[in-house]
Amino acid sequence: MTIVDPPMVNKLMLVPEQNTFIGAQPGNALVIHKTASGTSAEAVANFFINDPNGASSHFVIGQDGEIVQCVHLVNGAGANCCVENGFDPYWQQFNPMHVGSSTGTNLNTITISIEHCDPASDNSTPLTSAQKASSFKLIKWLVDQYGFDITPDGHGQMVDVKGHNTIDPINRARCPGNYPWSELQTYLQGGGTMGVPAGWTDNGTTLTAPNGHKVVHGFRAKVLAGWDPADIPLEEEHQVAHVENYYASDAGAIQTFNYTRLCYTVARGVYKMGIGNELLGCEKALVACKAAAPVTTIQGIDPVKVKTFLQTAAAKAADLETFITSSGL
Ligand SMILES: [Zn+2]
Repeated sequence: MTIVDPPMVNKLMLVPEQNTFIGAQPGNALVIHKTASGTSAEAVANFFINDPNGASSHFVIGQDGEIVQCVHLVNGAGANCCVENGFDPYWQQFNPMHVGSSTGTNLNTITISIEHCDPASDNSTPLTSAQKASSFKLIKWLVDQYGFDITPDGHGQMVDVKGHNTIDPINRARCPGNYPWSELQTYLQGGGTMGVPAGWTDNGTTLTAPNGHKVVHGFRAKVLAGWDPADIPLEEEHQVAHVENYYASDAGAIQTFNYTRLCYTVARGVYKMGIGNELLGCEKALVACKAAAPVTTIQGIDPVKVKTFLQTAAAKAADLETFITSSGL
């Protein structure tokens, strides 16, 4: 693969090449950082250029969305050296160098790194919308270029796209702080579409799908964060006593889409329902309903049992009808 630098970089501010891992051609994983101080990418790049310890990152993204590149992708940067105790087992496959050791793989030789400016020392400032847009676009380009595995890793991050805290869980536990991983996941899974899905319209408060159904408030924000244009709403948002039937759930709002059901509860905010779990619950209820069908006998019918059965069957049938209607199955 010919190694090229990303086209969306706004400015090159390269650190001295002798401070990089020259020709390392990193590309096994992508590591996300936040700076815990500063707001501008150029200021952080200047710090790297003059840092006697040789710290650096391939990219720095400022709060204004500016992307500064400090190390060419053909070289390794200086952000991810060594693992600390408690590191994510993902890194074990690379035989990583441990802090204080001189053997093993220096992770700077196999990883690409992105810094995000955050003036808060605990990295708690949300990315600005310009910063988020630049970050997601750059990551999408890198994922496409290097084929990073973006499958969820079960710990809120992705298989090959990790936070610095997975390498150094003690001294860098707050790097990258509140980076919006789930939004990034949604964006990448949606093929890198952020904003109004193709064929939909938006007037600033209401999204309208091609079939005329509307999406508003938190569900609108979720769609705008990255959405498959074909995943159109099949109904309007509405309130329900339980947002899920087959998973313990609170009262809230739901809206069913072609492939998705969005739920909102006070406790969980906006989230995608585990629709497979709901579907299996319905199918099991249907099987139970069929199994409970009465054996017709002329004599010995217990009117109480018949009444109970009919009530149960009617309730289950109503549940199923509600689910099938709302999910568009
Ligand atoms: Zn970091």
